[in-house]
Amino acid sequence: MKIIMLGAPGAGKGTQAKMIAEKYSVPHVSTGDIFRANIKNGTELGKQAKEYMDKGLLVPDELTVKILLDRVAQEDCKNGYVLDGFPRTIPQAEVLDKALTELGEKVDYAIDVDVPDENIVNRMGGRRACLKCGATYHVVYNAPKTEGVCDVCGEKLVLREDDKPETVQKRLTVYHDQTQPLIEYYDKKGILKEVDGTVDMNDVFAAICSILG
Ligand code: ADP
Ligand code: AMP
Repeated sequence: MKIIMLGAPGAGKGTQAKMIAEKYSVPHVSTGDIFRANIKNGTELGKQAKEYMDKGLLVPDELTVKILLDRVAQEDCKNGYVLDGFPRTIPQAEVLDKALTELGEKVDYAIDVDVPDENIVNRMGGRRACLKCGATYHVVYNAPKTEGVCDVCGEKLVLREDDKPETVQKRLTVYHDQTQPLIEYYDKKGILKEVDGTVDMNDVFAAICSILG
């Protein structure tokens, strides 16, 4: 099963992708996590990606597409995956479709987690991230057991640089300009599924499960 998560930054794509990955035993593939791991490890890719990420801009397609295609070519992805944060542009979606068509495969579902912009700034301001294991929390809606500490690995949690309010506004603009057109792209292919992302995260997950079966 190959699933794409669509939605604005902070809509809950990552939260839901992790739950899907666990229930359906497929890997959770997040391009944002891959970039952050590269930044943490000081790689050349990380240095290049950081320039864009800190400004709330998209990392250029040339850099992004290759890391994604390399990742989904790995053994653990052979029975499917849930993509979180990719594709974010029409050209990215076209490259993925082309690569899958060559393998005789296709995306099964594109799930749009719908959350209006008004809710997003609050979500992002309260998000706390573990840069070691990729776990995500919210200070109110999904608090860690000990404030500021990752439940999974014990690392100190941070407010991501790109979750600061000025950058969030920029990311929302970029989302509407470059990523939202993917909703129509996948609708035309007949695989778009919409869920209300404003409700409790367990209710969002229940709606997704009723789609995936
Ligand atoms: P995305 O991956 O789309 O950027 P996240 O999954 O990281 O978004 O969620 C953004 C923030 O909102 C996180 O702090 C997360 O804990 C919180 N969150 C996710 N889903 C919900 C929800 N349904 N209700 C309230 N808060 C949520
Ligand atoms: P995310 O963790 O999905 O919120 O992504 C954080 C940031 O990484 C984004 O704001 C972009 O700068 C960059 N990024 C992640 N995925 C992509 C992608 N598919 N295309 C371009 N940039 C991306």
